[in-house]
Amino acid sequence: MDAEIIAVGSELLLGQIVNTNAKFLSQQFAEMGVNVFYHTVVGDNESRLTLALETAESRANLIVFTGGLGPTKDDLTKETISSHLGRKLVSDEEALDSIKAYFSKTGAEMTENNKKQALILEGSEVLPNDHGMAPGMVTTIKGITYMLLPGPPKEMEPMFLSYGFDSIMKKLETHERIESKVLRFFGIGESLLETKIEDLLEKQANPTIAPLAGDGEVTLRITAKDSSREKCEAMIAEVETEIISRVGEYYYGSNETSLIKELVKELTVRNLTIAGAESLTGGMFQEQLTSIPGAGKIFKGGIVSYTNDTKANLLKISDKTIDEYGVVSGQCAIEMAENVRDLLDADVGISFTGVAGPDEQEGMPVGTVFIGMAFRNQESKAERLNLSGSRAQNRIRSVKYGCHYLLR
Ligand code: ATP
Ligand code: MG
Repeated sequence: MDAEIIAVGSELLLGQIVNTNAKFLSQQFAEMGVNVFYHTVVGDNESRLTLALETAESRANLIVFTGGLGPTKDDLTKETISSHLGRKLVSDEEALDSIKAYFSKTGAEMTENNKKQALILEGSEVLPNDHGMAPGMVTTIKGITYMLLPGPPKEMEPMFLSYGFDSIMKKLETHERIESKVLRFFGIGESLLETKIEDLLEKQANPTIAPLAGDGEVTLRITAKDSSREKCEAMIAEVETEIISRVGEYYYGSNETSLIKELVKELTVRNLTIAGAESLTGGMFQEQLTSIPGAGKIFKGGIVSYTNDTKANLLKISDKTIDEYGVVSGQCAIEMAENVRDLLDADVGISFTGVAGPDEQEGMPVGTVFIGMAFRNQESKAERLNLSGSRAQNRIRSVKYGCHYLLR
């Protein structure tokens, strides 16, 4: 089952807006296991849209259009498809009613061309628009399914999502079930991870394994197709077990999660509180922690000690440490973690000190970071990182590594 996404709109070709609709739809189809082989962008022009449509029909059996469903003259997606397919446009009562209701709610005056928005391809299934006026529609003709969605992402995305996975699968006339699971890794590069599972990647057919890297993390999406959900899940589990047996030390969670979420989860389960002392990350760790609902149960608070003075006065880092080892050192990181833990009476203390860049500090190169960890019944320790990103990346990576070390 192959899909093509046709984004209609001259503003896309003029570079005024980015084609985020294609990105969204492609992500959705990837989750469903539907192949998207082409993205097409075409302006508000009937003959070029017809050409794009003919091309798509030659290589896809699901064609999704976004844009051009509005009331104005340049909105001609429906009209073009209608004349191409020889399907009349007819007014849909329900769509017209909801357009009227929309106008009476907003108090704006309804003009004649607004009625155009209630026109649908005869015989098509109407997708109600809960966030705007133009309804979407789906119709299958000679084995090809045409799906028309509005341009504004705020209307298009909820419409697509509420139409739902199952309806699309039915349209695709497949009785196959498609399930997927995303495994998340941190602390290992994409190429090394791929090397470790090279043989699995090479022989993959069903389930498929798709690696994706970004923000210092690597994910593997395992997608299985079979007649039932249970069968798919069993197939996924088998591949998952094999992958974890090889690179499990870098694995931190599956599907929708993040390192910080996993950390909050772990501390909650173990009934432990945490406090943070941050230098180069300037409070980013604490900000991320508090963005997770339920953080109040585990997070005591922290200190952003950016200057040496603050480290000495507020965090009570000894002069000896600052003078002898410097603030970018494992000793300082450990002291920061221990002191913040004790000052705030937490079970765990974590600290971040280092050189984010662009300039070196204390003779230490940019990207040198020490993460200190102090526990109650365990020896404190510090980990050294030699990061190679920009200032912003180094700070974000530091926070991620902090979570990673605590989760180990
Ligand atoms: P309307 O009823 O608002 O006119 P429409 O279905 O006719 O909707 P367009 O006129 O093509 O859609 O586009 C309306 C707006 O939607 C654009 O100005 C743009 O902000 C957004 N939009 C359209 N296509 C895309 C796209 N591919 N990606 C992201 N945004 C888009
Ligand atoms: Mg429009």
